[in-house]
Amino acid sequence: MSFASRVIHLKAEGAYQVLARAQELEAAGRDIIHLEIGEPDFSTAPHISMMGIKAIADGKTHYNPPSGIEELREAIAKDAGRRRGITIDPAQVVISPGAKPNLFFPALALIDVGDEVIYPDPGFPTYEAMIRVAGGIPVPVPLVEENDFSFDLDAFDNLINEKTRLIIINSPGNPTGGVMSLDDLKHIANAAQKYDCWILSDEIYMRIAFDGLDVPSISALPDMLKRTIIVDGFSKAYAMTGWRLGFGIMPPVLAERINLLLTHSVGCTAHFTQYAGLEAITGPQGWVDEMVTAYQQRRDVLISGLNSIPGISCRKPMGAFYAFPSIESFNLSSDEMANLILEKANVALLPGTSFGKYGEGYLRIVYANSLENIKEALERIGNVLSSLEKS
Ligand code: PLP
Repeated sequence: MSFASRVIHLKAEGAYQVLARAQELEAAGRDIIHLEIGEPDFSTAPHISMMGIKAIADGKTHYNPPSGIEELREAIAKDAGRRRGITIDPAQVVISPGAKPNLFFPALALIDVGDEVIYPDPGFPTYEAMIRVAGGIPVPVPLVEENDFSFDLDAFDNLINEKTRLIIINSPGNPTGGVMSLDDLKHIANAAQKYDCWILSDEIYMRIAFDGLDVPSISALPDMLKRTIIVDGFSKAYAMTGWRLGFGIMPPVLAERINLLLTHSVGCTAHFTQYAGLEAITGPQGWVDEMVTAYQQRRDVLISGLNSIPGISCRKPMGAFYAFPSIESFNLSSDEMANLILEKANVALLPGTSFGKYGEGYLRIVYANSLENIKEALERIGNVLSSLEKS
Protein backbone atom coordinates (compact mmCIF):
# COMPACT_ATOMS: atom_id res chain seq x y z
CA MET A 1 0.00 0.00 0.00
CA SER A 2 1.31 3.48 -0.71
CA PHE A 3 0.90 6.37 1.68
CA ALA A 4 0.93 10.14 1.36
CA SER A 5 4.36 11.68 1.70
CA ARG A 6 3.24 13.58 4.79
CA VAL A 7 3.08 10.33 6.81
CA ILE A 8 5.63 8.12 5.11
CA HIS A 9 8.47 9.37 7.36
CA LEU A 10 6.67 8.66 10.65
CA LYS A 11 8.19 6.10 12.96
CA ALA A 12 7.37 4.76 16.43
CA GLU A 13 8.86 6.41 19.51
CA GLY A 14 11.96 4.51 20.63
CA ALA A 15 10.48 4.05 24.10
CA TYR A 16 7.66 1.89 22.76
CA GLN A 17 10.04 -0.24 20.70
CA VAL A 18 12.25 -0.93 23.70
CA LEU A 19 9.19 -1.55 25.88
CA ALA A 20 7.98 -4.17 23.38
CA ARG A 21 11.34 -6.01 23.49
CA ALA A 22 11.47 -5.74 27.29
CA GLN A 23 8.00 -7.25 27.51
CA GLU A 24 9.07 -10.12 25.27
CA LEU A 25 11.94 -10.82 27.65
CA GLU A 26 9.57 -10.62 30.62
CA ALA A 27 7.23 -13.09 28.95
CA ALA A 28 10.24 -15.41 28.74
CA GLY A 29 10.68 -15.12 32.52
CA ARG A 30 13.25 -12.29 32.84
CA ASP A 31 13.01 -9.69 35.59
CA ILE A 32 13.34 -6.36 33.77
CA ILE A 33 13.72 -2.95 35.42
CA HIS A 34 11.88 -0.39 33.31
CA LEU A 35 13.72 2.90 32.94
CA GLU A 36 12.56 3.60 29.39
CA ILE A 37 9.10 5.17 29.56
CA GLY A 38 8.95 8.87 30.48
CA GLU A 39 6.08 9.03 32.89
CA PRO A 40 5.69 9.55 36.63
CA ASP A 41 5.53 6.34 38.65
CA PHE A 42 3.16 8.09 41.07
CA SER A 43 -0.60 7.72 40.78
CA THR A 44 -2.82 10.75 40.31
CA ALA A 45 -3.69 12.15 43.75
CA PRO A 46 -7.02 10.81 45.12
CA HIS A 47 -8.64 14.27 45.42
CA ILE A 48 -8.12 14.75 41.67
CA SER A 49 -9.33 11.29 40.70
CA MET A 50 -12.42 11.69 42.91
CA MET A 51 -13.21 14.99 41.22
CA GLY A 52 -13.06 13.24 37.83
CA ILE A 53 -15.47 10.56 39.11
CA LYS A 54 -17.79 13.19 40.60
CA ALA A 55 -17.78 15.09 37.32
CA ILE A 56 -18.92 11.94 35.50
CA ALA A 57 -21.64 11.36 38.12
CA ASP A 58 -22.72 15.00 37.75
CA GLY A 59 -23.20 14.50 34.01
CA LYS A 60 -20.09 16.33 32.77
CA THR A 61 -20.04 13.87 29.92
CA HIS A 62 -20.99 16.07 26.97
CA TYR A 63 -19.42 17.90 24.11
CA ASN A 64 -17.89 21.12 25.35
CA PRO A 65 -16.10 24.03 23.62
CA PRO A 66 -13.15 22.87 21.43
CA SER A 67 -10.70 25.02 23.40
CA GLY A 68 -12.04 23.76 26.72
CA ILE A 69 -14.36 24.80 29.53
CA GLU A 70 -14.17 28.43 30.58
CA GLU A 71 -13.50 27.70 34.30
CA LEU A 72 -10.39 25.70 33.45
CA ARG A 73 -9.13 28.22 30.90
CA GLU A 74 -9.48 30.95 33.52
CA ALA A 75 -7.70 28.88 36.19
CA ILE A 76 -4.86 28.01 33.78
CA ALA A 77 -4.46 31.65 32.72
CA LYS A 78 -4.10 32.68 36.36
CA ASP A 79 -1.86 29.83 37.49
CA ALA A 80 0.40 29.61 34.42
CA GLY A 81 0.73 33.41 34.36
CA ARG A 82 1.68 33.61 38.03
CA ARG A 83 4.30 30.90 37.68
CA ARG A 84 5.96 32.72 34.76
CA GLY A 85 5.48 36.27 35.97
CA ILE A 86 3.28 37.23 33.01
CA THR A 87 -0.35 38.21 32.51
CA ILE A 88 -2.37 35.74 30.49
CA ASP A 89 -5.91 36.23 29.27
CA PRO A 90 -8.15 33.11 29.17
CA ALA A 91 -8.63 33.82 25.43
CA GLN A 92 -4.97 32.84 25.02
CA VAL A 93 -5.51 29.40 26.55
CA VAL A 94 -6.27 26.35 24.42
CA ILE A 95 -6.99 23.10 26.26
CA SER A 96 -6.24 19.84 24.49
CA PRO A 97 -6.27 16.09 25.08
CA GLY A 98 -2.68 15.91 26.37
CA ALA A 99 -0.02 18.46 25.53
CA LYS A 100 0.78 16.84 22.19
CA PRO A 101 -2.08 18.43 20.16
CA ASN A 102 -0.75 21.79 21.32
CA LEU A 103 2.56 20.87 19.72
CA PHE A 104 1.08 19.43 16.56
CA PHE A 105 -1.67 21.92 15.76
CA PRO A 106 0.42 25.09 16.15
CA ALA A 107 2.93 23.39 13.84
CA LEU A 108 0.16 22.79 11.28
CA ALA A 109 -1.14 26.32 11.72
CA LEU A 110 2.22 28.06 11.30
CA ILE A 111 4.49 25.97 9.08
CA ASP A 112 4.07 26.19 5.33
CA VAL A 113 5.74 23.81 2.88
CA GLY A 114 9.43 24.67 2.72
CA ASP A 115 9.54 26.70 5.94
CA GLU A 116 12.52 25.88 8.14
CA VAL A 117 12.02 24.92 11.76
CA ILE A 118 14.83 24.84 14.32
CA TYR A 119 14.44 22.25 17.08
CA PRO A 120 16.65 20.64 19.74
CA ASP A 121 18.62 17.48 18.97
CA PRO A 122 18.58 15.32 21.04
CA GLY A 123 14.92 16.24 21.50
CA PHE A 124 11.39 14.93 21.92
CA PRO A 125 10.66 12.88 18.75
CA THR A 126 7.28 14.53 18.12
CA TYR A 127 9.04 17.76 17.08
CA GLU A 128 10.60 16.31 13.95
CA ALA A 129 7.46 14.29 13.18
CA MET A 130 5.18 17.33 13.31
CA ILE A 131 7.54 19.53 11.31
CA ARG A 132 7.62 16.95 8.52
CA VAL A 133 3.86 16.33 8.58
CA ALA A 134 3.39 20.09 8.17
CA GLY A 135 5.74 20.04 5.15
CA GLY A 136 8.44 22.03 6.90
CA ILE A 137 12.18 21.44 6.79
CA PRO A 138 13.52 20.14 10.10
CA VAL A 139 16.70 21.95 11.16
CA PRO A 140 18.17 20.23 14.23
CA VAL A 141 20.38 22.32 16.49
CA PRO A 142 22.83 20.29 18.61
CA LEU A 143 22.61 20.57 22.38
CA VAL A 144 25.84 21.00 24.31
CA GLU A 145 26.45 18.94 27.41
CA GLU A 146 28.82 21.54 28.97
CA ASN A 147 26.09 24.16 28.57
CA ASP A 148 23.60 22.05 30.52
CA PHE A 149 22.31 20.60 27.26
CA SER A 150 21.14 23.99 26.06
CA PHE A 151 21.49 25.01 22.38
CA ASP A 152 24.90 25.19 20.76
CA LEU A 153 24.42 28.92 20.21
CA ASP A 154 27.12 29.19 17.53
CA ALA A 155 25.41 26.44 15.55
CA PHE A 156 22.06 28.13 16.19
CA ASP A 157 23.37 31.46 14.87
CA ASN A 158 24.54 29.70 11.72
CA LEU A 159 21.26 27.85 11.21
CA ILE A 160 18.73 30.66 11.69
CA ASN A 161 17.91 32.67 8.56
CA GLU A 162 15.06 34.41 6.73
CA LYS A 163 13.41 31.04 5.97
CA THR A 164 13.20 30.08 9.66
CA ARG A 165 9.54 30.18 10.65
CA LEU A 166 9.59 28.57 14.06
CA ILE A 167 12.09 27.77 16.82
CA ILE A 168 11.24 24.97 19.23
CA ILE A 169 12.77 24.94 22.69
CA ASN A 170 12.17 22.55 25.59
CA SER A 171 13.34 23.39 29.10
CA PRO A 172 13.63 21.43 31.33
CA GLY A 173 14.34 19.11 28.46
CA ASN A 174 13.49 15.60 27.42
CA PRO A 175 15.75 13.56 27.05
CA THR A 176 18.51 15.44 28.91
CA GLY A 177 16.92 17.04 31.98
CA GLY A 178 18.84 20.21 31.06
CA VAL A 179 17.54 23.68 31.86
CA MET A 180 18.24 26.59 29.49
CA SER A 181 19.74 29.66 31.14
CA LEU A 182 18.11 33.08 31.01
CA ASP A 183 21.07 34.32 28.94
CA ASP A 184 20.54 31.60 26.33
CA LEU A 185 16.82 32.37 26.21
CA LYS A 186 17.62 36.06 25.68
CA HIS A 187 19.98 35.14 22.84
CA ILE A 188 17.28 33.02 21.17
CA ALA A 189 14.62 35.68 21.78
CA ASN A 190 16.78 38.37 20.11
CA ALA A 191 17.31 36.14 17.09
CA ALA A 192 13.57 35.35 16.90
CA GLN A 193 12.83 39.08 16.89
CA LYS A 194 15.49 39.80 14.30
CA TYR A 195 14.24 37.09 11.91
CA ASP A 196 10.59 37.48 12.89
CA CYS A 197 10.10 33.84 13.93
CA TRP A 198 7.66 32.14 16.25
CA ILE A 199 8.85 30.31 19.35
CA LEU A 200 7.26 27.12 20.56
CA SER A 201 8.37 26.71 24.17
CA ASP A 202 7.60 23.23 25.49
CA GLU A 203 7.46 23.82 29.26
CA ILE A 204 5.77 20.58 30.28
CA TYR A 205 8.50 19.85 32.85
CA MET A 206 8.62 23.36 34.31
CA ARG A 207 7.26 22.30 37.71
CA ILE A 208 9.83 19.50 38.00
CA ALA A 209 13.01 21.44 38.82
CA PHE A 210 15.53 20.77 41.57
CA ASP A 211 17.61 22.47 44.24
CA GLY A 212 15.11 25.33 44.38
CA LEU A 213 15.78 26.35 40.77
CA ASP A 214 13.24 28.69 39.17
CA VAL A 215 13.03 27.69 35.51
CA PRO A 216 12.88 30.81 33.32
CA SER A 217 10.31 31.03 30.51
CA ILE A 218 11.16 32.79 27.25
CA SER A 219 7.57 34.09 27.24
CA ALA A 220 8.43 36.44 30.12
CA LEU A 221 11.10 38.31 28.13
CA PRO A 222 10.07 41.72 26.75
CA ASP A 223 7.78 41.52 23.72
CA MET A 224 8.05 37.72 23.50
CA LEU A 225 4.55 36.63 24.53
CA LYS A 226 3.16 37.80 21.21
CA ARG A 227 5.38 35.40 19.25
CA THR A 228 5.47 32.50 21.73
CA ILE A 229 3.36 29.39 22.14
CA ILE A 230 3.81 27.96 25.63
CA VAL A 231 3.03 24.25 25.79
CA ASP A 232 2.29 22.75 29.18
CA GLY A 233 -0.05 20.25 30.74
CA PHE A 234 -1.05 17.94 33.54
CA SER A 235 0.71 14.73 32.49
CA LYS A 236 4.03 15.21 34.25
CA ALA A 237 3.49 17.76 37.05
CA TYR A 238 0.29 16.10 38.31
CA ALA A 239 1.02 12.50 37.29
CA MET A 240 -1.98 12.51 34.93
CA THR A 241 -0.55 11.02 31.72
CA GLY A 242 -3.53 8.77 31.03
CA TRP A 243 -6.14 11.47 31.61
CA ARG A 244 -4.95 13.23 28.45
CA LEU A 245 -5.05 16.86 29.48
CA GLY A 246 -2.73 19.62 28.34
CA PHE A 247 -2.83 23.21 27.19
CA GLY A 248 -1.20 25.83 25.02
CA ILE A 249 -0.92 29.57 25.65
CA MET A 250 -0.64 31.73 22.56
CA PRO A 251 -1.86 34.96 20.99
CA PRO A 252 -5.68 34.90 20.63
CA VAL A 253 -5.58 35.00 16.80
CA LEU A 254 -3.52 31.81 16.74
CA ALA A 255 -5.71 30.31 19.50
CA GLU A 256 -8.72 30.79 17.18
CA ARG A 257 -6.97 28.79 14.42
CA ILE A 258 -6.07 26.00 16.85
CA ASN A 259 -9.66 26.03 18.07
CA LEU A 260 -10.73 25.29 14.47
CA LEU A 261 -8.16 22.51 14.06
CA LEU A 262 -9.42 20.95 17.30
CA THR A 263 -13.04 21.36 16.12
CA HIS A 264 -12.35 19.40 12.96
CA SER A 265 -10.07 16.74 14.46
CA VAL A 266 -10.67 15.69 18.06
CA GLY A 267 -13.76 17.90 18.52
CA CYS A 268 -12.96 18.71 22.11
CA THR A 269 -11.15 17.44 25.20
CA ALA A 270 -13.06 15.01 27.46
CA HIS A 271 -15.50 16.99 29.60
CA PHE A 272 -15.05 15.37 33.04
CA THR A 273 -11.25 15.25 32.68
CA GLN A 274 -11.19 19.04 32.70
CA TYR A 275 -12.88 19.17 36.11
CA ALA A 276 -10.18 16.88 37.43
CA GLY A 277 -7.66 19.31 35.92
CA LEU A 278 -9.39 22.22 37.63
CA GLU A 279 -9.06 20.41 40.95
CA ALA A 280 -5.38 19.71 40.19
CA ILE A 281 -4.65 23.41 39.73
CA THR A 282 -6.85 24.88 42.44
CA GLY A 283 -6.48 22.09 45.04
CA PRO A 284 -3.58 21.34 47.40
CA GLN A 285 -0.13 21.56 45.79
CA GLY A 286 1.92 19.93 48.55
CA TRP A 287 1.86 16.50 46.89
CA VAL A 288 3.43 17.97 43.73
CA ASP A 289 6.29 19.33 45.84
CA GLU A 290 6.62 15.92 47.50
CA MET A 291 6.91 14.21 44.10
CA VAL A 292 9.57 16.70 43.06
CA THR A 293 11.49 16.06 46.29
CA ALA A 294 11.31 12.32 45.60
CA TYR A 295 12.59 12.82 42.02
CA GLN A 296 15.46 14.92 43.35
CA GLN A 297 16.44 12.21 45.84
CA ARG A 298 16.36 9.59 43.09
CA ARG A 299 18.35 11.85 40.77
CA ASP A 300 21.06 12.22 43.38
CA VAL A 301 21.34 8.48 43.92
CA LEU A 302 21.29 7.73 40.18
CA ILE A 303 23.81 10.37 39.15
CA SER A 304 26.35 9.55 41.83
CA GLY A 305 25.89 5.84 41.08
CA LEU A 306 26.38 6.37 37.34
CA ASN A 307 29.48 8.48 37.86
CA SER A 308 31.01 5.77 40.00
CA ILE A 309 30.79 3.26 37.13
CA PRO A 310 34.13 3.41 35.28
CA GLY A 311 33.62 4.75 31.75
CA ILE A 312 30.32 6.54 32.38
CA SER A 313 30.05 10.25 33.04
CA CYS A 314 26.77 11.99 33.76
CA ARG A 315 25.93 15.63 34.25
CA LYS A 316 23.54 16.40 37.08
CA PRO A 317 20.21 17.25 35.47
CA MET A 318 18.37 20.22 36.96
CA GLY A 319 14.86 19.24 35.90
CA ALA A 320 12.41 16.64 34.54
CA PHE A 321 13.15 13.00 35.47
CA TYR A 322 15.76 12.05 32.91
CA ALA A 323 19.48 11.40 33.15
CA PHE A 324 21.57 11.50 29.97
CA PRO A 325 24.89 9.81 30.70
CA SER A 326 27.75 9.78 28.22
CA ILE A 327 29.01 6.33 27.25
CA GLU A 328 31.48 7.65 24.70
CA SER A 329 34.47 5.95 26.29
CA PHE A 330 33.12 2.50 25.41
CA ASN A 331 33.63 1.24 21.89
CA LEU A 332 29.92 0.77 21.30
CA SER A 333 27.22 2.88 19.70
CA SER A 334 24.32 4.10 21.86
CA ASP A 335 22.09 1.56 20.22
CA GLU A 336 24.49 -1.31 20.87
CA MET A 337 24.96 -0.20 24.47
CA ALA A 338 21.20 0.10 25.15
CA ASN A 339 20.66 -3.38 23.65
CA LEU A 340 23.51 -4.86 25.64
CA ILE A 341 22.17 -3.37 28.87
CA LEU A 342 18.69 -4.72 28.14
CA GLU A 343 19.81 -8.19 27.10
CA LYS A 344 22.58 -8.70 29.68
CA ALA A 345 21.64 -6.47 32.62
CA ASN A 346 17.84 -6.72 32.26
CA VAL A 347 17.51 -2.95 32.44
CA ALA A 348 15.39 -1.21 29.79
CA LEU A 349 16.60 2.25 28.81
CA LEU A 350 16.93 4.19 25.57
CA PRO A 351 19.82 5.00 23.26
CA GLY A 352 20.41 8.75 22.92
CA THR A 353 19.86 8.33 19.18
CA SER A 354 16.14 7.69 19.82
CA PHE A 355 16.10 11.49 20.15
CA GLY A 356 18.16 12.44 17.11
CA LYS A 357 21.60 11.94 15.64
CA TYR A 358 23.30 14.23 18.17
CA GLY A 359 22.20 11.80 20.88
CA GLU A 360 24.94 9.38 19.75
CA GLY A 361 27.26 8.56 22.64
CA TYR A 362 24.53 8.88 25.28
CA LEU A 363 21.76 6.89 26.95
CA ARG A 364 18.50 8.17 28.39
CA ILE A 365 17.54 6.85 31.80
CA VAL A 366 14.18 7.64 33.41
CA TYR A 367 14.42 7.93 37.17
CA ALA A 368 10.70 8.16 37.83
CA ASN A 369 11.08 4.83 39.55
CA SER A 370 11.65 3.53 43.09
CA LEU A 371 15.01 4.07 44.80
CA GLU A 372 15.20 0.31 45.21
CA ASN A 373 14.88 -0.28 41.44
CA ILE A 374 17.33 2.52 40.67
CA LYS A 375 19.96 1.04 43.00
CA GLU A 376 19.41 -2.44 41.60
CA ALA A 377 19.65 -1.11 38.02
CA LEU A 378 22.94 0.65 38.86
CA GLU A 379 24.39 -2.54 40.23
CA ARG A 380 23.32 -4.57 37.21
CA ILE A 381 24.65 -1.98 34.73
CA GLY A 382 27.92 -1.66 36.65
CA ASN A 383 28.42 -5.43 36.56
CA VAL A 384 27.83 -5.74 32.84
CA LEU A 385 29.98 -2.73 31.92
CA SER A 386 32.91 -3.80 34.12
CA SER A 387 33.84 -6.46 31.57
CA LEU A 388 33.78 -4.09 28.58
CA GLU A 389 36.81 -2.50 26.99
CA LYS A 390 37.14 1.29 27.28
CA SER A 391 39.05 3.61 25.00
N1 PLP B 1 6.64 17.39 25.51
C1 PLP B 1 7.61 16.66 26.05
C2 PLP B 1 8.99 17.22 26.09
C3 PLP B 1 7.37 15.39 26.55
O1 PLP B 1 8.37 14.67 27.07
C4 PLP B 1 6.04 14.88 26.49
C5 PLP B 1 5.72 13.52 26.94
O2 PLP B 1 6.57 12.66 27.12
C6 PLP B 1 5.05 15.68 25.92
C7 PLP B 1 5.38 16.93 25.44
C8 PLP B 1 3.65 15.17 25.74
O3 PLP B 1 2.85 15.29 26.88
P1 PLP B 1 1.39 14.71 26.91
O4 PLP B 1 1.48 13.29 27.36
O5 PLP B 1 0.64 15.57 27.88
O6 PLP B 1 0.81 14.80 25.54
